[in-house]
Amino acid sequence: MASTRPRDPYEVLGIARDADETQIKKAFRKLARELHPDVNAHDPDAEEKFKEAAEAYEILSDPERRSTYDRYGHDGLRSGGMGPNFEGFGSISDLFEAFFGRGGGGFGGFGARPGGPVQGGDVAVNAEVTLAQAAAGASIELSFEGIDTCERCNGNGAEPGTPIVTCERCGGVGVLQAVTRSPFGQVVRQVTCDVCGGDGKVAQTPCERCEGRGREVRRRTLKVDIPPGIGDAQRIRLSGRGHAGEHGGPPGDLYVLVHVLDDERFVRDGDDLVTVLDVPAPLAALGATLEAPSLDGPVEVEVDAGTQPGTVITLRGQGMPVLRRTGRRGDLRVVVNVVIPRRLSKDQRELVRRLAESIGPENLRSDESMLGKLRRLVGG
Ligand SMILES: [Zn+2]
Ligand SMILES: [Zn+2]
Repeated sequence: MASTRPRDPYEVLGIARDADETQIKKAFRKLARELHPDVNAHDPDAEEKFKEAAEAYEILSDPERRSTYDRYGHDGLRSGGMGPNFEGFGSISDLFEAFFGRGGGGFGGFGARPGGPVQGGDVAVNAEVTLAQAAAGASIELSFEGIDTCERCNGNGAEPGTPIVTCERCGGVGVLQAVTRSPFGQVVRQVTCDVCGGDGKVAQTPCERCEGRGREVRRRTLKVDIPPGIGDAQRIRLSGRGHAGEHGGPPGDLYVLVHVLDDERFVRDGDDLVTVLDVPAPLAALGATLEAPSLDGPVEVEVDAGTQPGTVITLRGQGMPVLRRTGRRGDLRVVVNVVIPRRLSKDQRELVRRLAESIGPENLRSDESMLGKLRRLVGG
């Protein structure tokens, strides 16, 4: 049972990926009671199992930790300094009391049959793509560790060629009756059989590869298609590509969290791209055809005579593709940055001086109101 790799907390608690707070609490209470030290004195693994459940609960009951786990898995929690913290707890009884208060009795009824099919946990994997890849779409290869059905025993936990027999401990029922004393008298309840895990059957000779668990962690590689137009922090769900299920349950899902890397030429604004075009002041005055970057390579931009700083030239349909809308694209917005020439030579200074002297009110008259100008200059 002891494993160095922490299990998926959803899997530990046996809940769906989208379980709400109440379901999480309920699942943990149920599990914690099954693992109560009073009824598990015979089970040396109970404490470990309880710790595992408590750690899972600790992650999923905290929205911040949960979302970190959803996106980055256990590694994300560790690197974010949010790893499990149970050093402060003493014995399992202390732990139990911390969650339920002293005594912790009053067992409620149980929901799903213990040992029934459990869906495999979901897996979250990060994928980085460039802006160009996000625009064109890409097929990228991902590598991650997932729980798979054991290849040697095909998941039944038995060494190939050896029989699977009825569990002696529970007589094949999969559950045990546990009796606890409570202030209201004896309470009889059912717990999952600790020998067969609820299957009612055990391998006479456990599979040597998975030690009878029927499942094993394997590194998988998978090609994932990134659709054109994907945005940063968007998730792609691949149904059934997560961890393998237990007791015949279906596999979980794979979530690919896409990170679109910054591109120094563009700022993305939804489906639009924004870029800056440096235009020397004389050319802004005279008008010019200049080159601006676009996703499809340099494009020609007509800068009209008298173009003012901050003017936006919109190139329709030259932005990002619109996700799942074939053929539709956003715009490329080219912001004109008028550059005033510096470090002029003696001759250039003379030319500019003559230009300055020649400029009259007619050259400076604007179509724009003072207020409009102020708004534009302060970016309002
Ligand atoms: Zn096996
Ligand atoms: Zn059993």
